[in-house]
Amino acid sequence: MPPLPLLPISVAGQWRPGGGDEYESLYPATGEPIARLNAAGVADVDEAIAGADHAFRTSGWAQMLPHARAAVLHRVAGLVRERAEDLAQRQRLDNGKPISETRALVASAAGTFQFFAAALETLEDTITPSRGAYVTMSVHEPMGVVAAITPWNSPIASEAQKMAPALAAGNAVVVKPAEVTPLMALELARICEEAGVPKGIISVLPGKGSVIGDAITKHPLVKRVSFTGGTATGRHIAHIAADKMMPVSLELGGKSATMVLEDADLDHAVNGVLYGIFSSSGESCIAGSRLFVARTIYDAFVERLTQAARRLRVGDPSDEKTQMGPLITARHRESIERYVALGLSEGGTLRTGGVRPQGTGFDKGYFYMPTILEGLTNQARVAQEEIFGPVLVAMPFDTEEELIAQANDSVYALAAGVWSRDFKRAWRVGRAVQAGTVWVNTYKQFSVSTPFGGWRDSGLGREKGREGIFQYMEQKSMYWGTGEQPIPWAD
Ligand code: NAD
Repeated sequence: MPPLPLLPISVAGQWRPGGGDEYESLYPATGEPIARLNAAGVADVDEAIAGADHAFRTSGWAQMLPHARAAVLHRVAGLVRERAEDLAQRQRLDNGKPISETRALVASAAGTFQFFAAALETLEDTITPSRGAYVTMSVHEPMGVVAAITPWNSPIASEAQKMAPALAAGNAVVVKPAEVTPLMALELARICEEAGVPKGIISVLPGKGSVIGDAITKHPLVKRVSFTGGTATGRHIAHIAADKMMPVSLELGGKSATMVLEDADLDHAVNGVLYGIFSSSGESCIAGSRLFVARTIYDAFVERLTQAARRLRVGDPSDEKTQMGPLITARHRESIERYVALGLSEGGTLRTGGVRPQGTGFDKGYFYMPTILEGLTNQARVAQEEIFGPVLVAMPFDTEEELIAQANDSVYALAAGVWSRDFKRAWRVGRAVQAGTVWVNTYKQFSVSTPFGGWRDSGLGREKGREGIFQYMEQKSMYWGTGEQPIPWAD
């Protein structure tokens, strides 16, 4: 086979090979290369950021009237929709998610650009009550160059979630996608330029986080970092941000509890719990990876869940019916296997899974079967640490008080699910559980109009929602003197 053509990256408006090492992006279902590129080098970081600063100051992007800038973002949404199938197929190749999921992610990216175009056009500054001979206002200004650092698990949606509000706010954006999934950010940047975002306003710098991500974060011209990824990386970025006195938003890891109360609608709960942990092969920050079931229904419920998990369609991501594709890399699968072995060594037992699938189509990719572990307490490491794979830890509970205490006993607090027909109980538990998002009688549903983020080690700040745009703006108070008399100071 001829070598794949070298994919250019985007540095300050120029599409050219990066200055870093050459590498290949692999299709996780087969391990075959699907793209060849040079990562960005540190010199590219400097050039991209200097170019972004220049474009921010000179291109007129920040000064465009809101409806005009919104029109560009609407065009981005339109182009993403026009190319939806192509983008969904590329994303499938880039990170191995089933095509049904990548189509949904592409649709969500288009919706995010549309939403922030609307947010921009309807953005209101406030006139605050004045306390003297002046009119007081609170207005917002773009920040300049902001950075978006994204993980590999939901490309295009993650990138859109940061690029759309950052661009809507009038900033220039330097995007650092995960090394293993560079394609979608590059596609989105091309679409943005085609839609009318001035050259230089967007750069996309794939490469190693510890080199490229670090250099971007530390750069003095970068005024904000919006980061999605692991908690350890988020903490590192927060330290750099503290030194620079730079605001950050950190969307980090999770170990979310799903709680099935004894009066739950079990059909809904079985489906929701399965979807919550096994969709995206469990490679989801909000995966419901700790399951608490009322002891009175525990055996029957976990048995139903186990049978349903065994019927999940694991396999070829290009098949419309596939529910679980491969994991992102061979290394990541090994880490999941180590966690399952750890769970067993901690005294757990396997209800199902714990193995790689066998047979045709599974020999080269990084597949792993849906896995349910039980017989462990919430103190077990597999119940406390984020595995980021298709591994559910199931535990019984006796009282509501004990349930809430255990659900909250985690360094993470990203999301939770409550399954109950009794709305008063669901309300009580939903309010008592500490998490950025709580789903009641549903799970893993998302709306761009609703803020998202975590508590504790799951992160800082919120994305999405109309207010999401303010994350990328500085607030300014203005006083307009209206007095007839001067301030009586100079005699
Ligand atoms: P990661 O932290 O390893 O990497 C995320 C991004 O940060 C990548 O682009 C990476 O290259 C970059 N990076 C790595 N080191 C860096 C550094 N020193 N400085 C700057 N950037 C650096 O995470 P991952 O393995 O790609 O993604 C999985 C993690 O992401 C999981 O913990 C998951 O829970 C989390 N996640 C959170 C959310 C959320 O919204 N809360 C969403 C998706 C994923």
